[in-house]
Amino acid sequence: MADSTGTVFDVVILGGGSGGYACALRAAQLGLTVVLVEKGELGGTCLHRGCIPTKALLHAAEVADSSRESEQFGVRSTFEGIDMPAVNAYKDGVVGRLYKGLQGLVKSRKITYVEGMGRLVGPTAVEVDGQRYEGRHVVLATGSTPKTLPGLDIDGTLVLNSDHAIKLDFVPASVVVLGGGVIGCEFASVWKSFGADVTIVEALPHLVSMEDEQASKALERAFRKRKIGFELGSRFSGVEKSEKGVKVSLENGKTIEAELLLVAVGRGPVSQELGYEQVGVEMERGFVKVDEHCRTNIDTISAVGDLIPTPQLAHVGFGEGIMVAERLAGLDPAPIDYDGVPRVTYSEPEVASVGITEARAKEKYGDDAVESLTYDLAGNGKSQILRTAGFVKLVRQKDGPIVGIHMVGSRVAELVAEAQLIYGWEAYPDDVASLIHPHPTQTEAVGEAHLALAGKPLHAHG
Ligand SMILES: Cc1cc2nc3c(=O)[nH]c(=O)nc-3n(C[C@H](O)[C@H](O)[C@H](O)COP(=O)(O)OP(=O)(O)OC[C@H]3O[C@@H](n4cnc5c(N)ncnc54)[C@H](O)[C@@H]3O)c2cc1C
Repeated sequence: MADSTGTVFDVVILGGGSGGYACALRAAQLGLTVVLVEKGELGGTCLHRGCIPTKALLHAAEVADSSRESEQFGVRSTFEGIDMPAVNAYKDGVVGRLYKGLQGLVKSRKITYVEGMGRLVGPTAVEVDGQRYEGRHVVLATGSTPKTLPGLDIDGTLVLNSDHAIKLDFVPASVVVLGGGVIGCEFASVWKSFGADVTIVEALPHLVSMEDEQASKALERAFRKRKIGFELGSRFSGVEKSEKGVKVSLENGKTIEAELLLVAVGRGPVSQELGYEQVGVEMERGFVKVDEHCRTNIDTISAVGDLIPTPQLAHVGFGEGIMVAERLAGLDPAPIDYDGVPRVTYSEPEVASVGITEARAKEKYGDDAVESLTYDLAGNGKSQILRTAGFVKLVRQKDGPIVGIHMVGSRVAELVAEAQLIYGWEAYPDDVASLIHPHPTQTEAVGEAHLALAGKPLHAHG
């Protein structure tokens, strides 16, 4: 059945965030006809409320730290404070330029871009404002939204989520951050650098608890040194609001007063009242269920990005969108190895990893079949120059390949691309040890860790 304009497209994509627009761009590149439906702004969470604006704030935070600490490097300067409207203008400028570029890309690939709230109305159709768009295939990419806890009302003034925090036009004197995951730690890091008193409350025993425990502990040490407070293994029990701010109560009886509370307890899928159930799309806890090629239980419908229960990362959305587009164009893309996707927390210091943690490796291969090595950044010249502490930790199967790389320190996010190749290559320590890394760079720490694990340490004590 054709739509009211008579056209049947190859693919109709619902949602123009990382997953949806990547699928649209790749599908169009492969010669498919594409409709992309977006109710808000093309680029979605990552571009407008996520990756890009937070990383701009984190860069401004780094500049603030550099100017405050410049005397350590023999440079005299005076830190006079944060001009939040100017920081936001810088951040919005970055977002604006990328947004414009992305709009141009979509236009240049001849994608039919439809502005409006879409709804799935059949296995091959999406409706927007009464207009039906029919496709050989539909891709659901409606993303995610910030979650809260039962009874915790986000008012956008005293109790914020990340959508509000990204737009804040002042530096709060003090903040409680509820949730010590990636988003919570990144905002905690920004606000501390901007001069706020910050306390993180986390129910689990560690910050960034999905990371290798050694990395979590190193981040906790660094945050302690930066005087970022945290309450680990502490559950939130309530919040009282007053003219002065918020009083947050924990189940252990403690209370913390602050000007603001940021709720960063995770993100949930946007899947309600969009016709998914009615059309028969199988879901679990609100996430759309898919197979390893992002196919739902309905032949003509795929789903990608934060809407499906895979890591909630922009680059995962890109990868899934591209894979679906290639499959629909008749290619035979390989399924994604989600362990091989790099993960980064862009706080100061950064935490970056790929592959599996030491604990998971031991579960998978057995305690005696796993070997690990931690190379301290103290032995790395460039890290000394930057005055950063941290490590590169390798996890390998004994007499087998590297299965995990975990790093902590300023700028280690830039090392994770090499780590990803090492993991993907199923390299042995000797394979990497023979590669000469440029001196003095932090990448040398990756090389040195492999030298040490191969039994020929160079700049390593003990
Ligand atoms: C504060 C923060 C920081 C982050 N930092 C990083 C980072 O540094 N690196 C990283 O990799 N990831 C980061 N993320 C995660 C990243 O933003 C998401 O993983 C990514 O945006 C998911 O893409 P998506 O396409 O699945 O969903 P989204 O980006 O949420 O896009 C979904 C789109 O669908 C649209 N939509 C929804 N319903 C409808 C409808 N009915 N009709 C039409 N359109 C609809 C929405 O308007 C939205 O634009 C961050 C997230 C946050 C919140």
